[in-house]
Amino acid sequence: MPFELPSLPYADTALEPYYTSKIIGFHHGKHHKAYVDNLNKLIAGTPMEGKALEAIIQESAVDPPKAGIFNNAAQIWNHTFFWQSMKPLGGGKPSGELAGKIDQAFGGYEKFAEQFKTAAVTRFGSGWAWLVLDGGALKIVSTPNAETPITKGQIPLITIDVWEHAYYLDYQNRRPDFVQSFLDHLVNWDFSAQNLAKAK
Ligand code: FE
Repeated sequence: MPFELPSLPYADTALEPYYTSKIIGFHHGKHHKAYVDNLNKLIAGTPMEGKALEAIIQESAVDPPKAGIFNNAAQIWNHTFFWQSMKPLGGGKPSGELAGKIDQAFGGYEKFAEQFKTAAVTRFGSGWAWLVLDGGALKIVSTPNAETPITKGQIPLITIDVWEHAYYLDYQNRRPDFVQSFLDHLVNWDFSAQNLAKAK
């Protein structure tokens, strides 16, 4: 079975006005779909065909001639995680155990938000910013291009896509405004809490 483009977890208008159906149409319908189509072509008839996406990512990450496979496979994974990292009426402060762990790791939500924004805004070129669990501790990391924390033994809790295609149609060159909107109106802390609970 070839890989398929996962459906969005909400209607394409559900994140408006902070993330419009126009940008979702391109970002999910064209960019994310292209990674799926490319990976299917690259692995067709090879021993990787039929393997789980995570297995393909881990194998190709340590095999430089398979960089094309890695890039497309990791981008499928990262984008699927990104769509889940947002929700209608999202944003604001997390609660419960996650909030406690954020306070412990960063000294409060405001300090977390500053560090997360810095990671997202200063990622030069294309990439991702993440909140991850690394050996039991929360960390903010950023990865270039298609790179993903799952190849480094880190457990992603939330991500923001900071490739230009992720914000240009709605925010033009204003990446900091997109990151602020993500934190204030889009981030899905329920998803993050579920990832934290699963990690135990
Ligand atoms: Fe993207």
